[in-house]
Amino acid sequence: MVNHEMENLEKSLRQTIKHLATGGRLVIISYHSLEDRIVKQFMKEESTGCICPPQIPVCQCGHKATLKLITKKVIMPSLAEIESNPRSRSAKMRVAERI
Ligand SMILES: [Zn+2]
Repeated sequence: MVNHEMENLEKSLRQTIKHLATGGRLVIISYHSLEDRIVKQFMKEESTGCICPPQIPVCQCGHKATLKLITKKVIMPSLAEIESNPRSRSAKMRVAERI
């Protein structure tokens, strides 16, 4: 996957949460570790209020959390699932809820 596709992934994640109703869940399954990293960063940032750098004493970003993390850690398929569906081997799932 090339760089602009990674940017597109983040953009489409952003678009998706705009259209999610409160309580709606965002379930993302990645098959590539770079994709999962973007999903992880995105969910972390969107589940955090202020995202100012730590050296700024007063919040200037005004950022508000839009997601609550449902999965604290990435979910991977069980061995049984991998046996019955080998393509699931590299799958990584993360879930967050719109707040
Ligand atoms: Zn801030």
